[in-house]
Amino acid sequence: MKIIMLGAPGAGKGTQAQMIADKYDIPHISTGDIFRENVKKGTELGMEAKKYMDHGLLVPDELTVKILLDRVAQADCKNGYVLDGFPRTIPQAEVLDKAITELGEKIDYAINVDVPDENIIRRMSGRRACLACGATYHIEHIPPKKEGICDKCGKELVQRDDDKEETVKNRLDVYHKQTQPLIDFYTKQGVLRTVDGTMDMKDVFTAITTLLA
Ligand code: ADP
Ligand code: ADP
Ligand code: ZN
Repeated sequence: MKIIMLGAPGAGKGTQAQMIADKYDIPHISTGDIFRENVKKGTELGMEAKKYMDHGLLVPDELTVKILLDRVAQADCKNGYVLDGFPRTIPQAEVLDKAITELGEKIDYAINVDVPDENIIRRMSGRRACLACGATYHIEHIPPKKEGICDKCGKELVQRDDDKEETVKNRLDVYHKQTQPLIDFYTKQGVLRTVDGTMDMKDVFTAITTLLA
């Protein structure tokens, strides 16, 4: 099964993608996680991506597309994957579409996790992330068992550099201008499904699994 997660920054794409990946035993592929990993390691890719990420801007399509296509060509993607944070622009969606069509395959679902902007700012300020394994928490809604420590791998949790309020506003702007048009794109392909992302995380997941069944 090939699934794309759509939604504003902070809508809960990553949280749901991880649960989908666990349930269906497919890889969770987050371009944001790949970039953050590279920033942390100080690779050339990471240094280039950071220039954009710090301002809440998108990393250029050319760079992003190459990374994603390399990743989905790996052996663990044979039975499908859940993409989180890609595509984010129409050109990215077109490149992905072409690559998948050439393999005689298709995207099964694009799941739009719908959350209004007012809720987003609140969610982002409480987000804590594990840069080691990609797990995400929320200090009020989804706290880790031990404060500041990742349940999954025991590493320290951090606030992402780009989760500061000013940057979040830029990211929302970028979302509305560059990413929201994908809702139309996947509606036309007949694969778009929308879930109410303001519900409790477990209820959002139930809504998604009902759609996928
Ligand atoms: P969120 O879902 O919370 O917005 P992500 O972790 O998906 O955050 O992305 C963080 C940042 O990484 C983005 O603001 C952007 O700079 C960069 N990024 C991630 N995915 C893409 C993409 N598909 N195209 C361009 N930039 C991306
Ligand atoms: P995205 O990948 O779309 O940027 P995340 O999955 O990282 O979003 O979620 C953003 C923040 O909101 C995180 O702190 C996460 O723990 C929290 N969160 C996710 N889903 C919910 C939910 N249904 N209700 C409340 N908070 C949530
Ligand atoms: Zn972790």
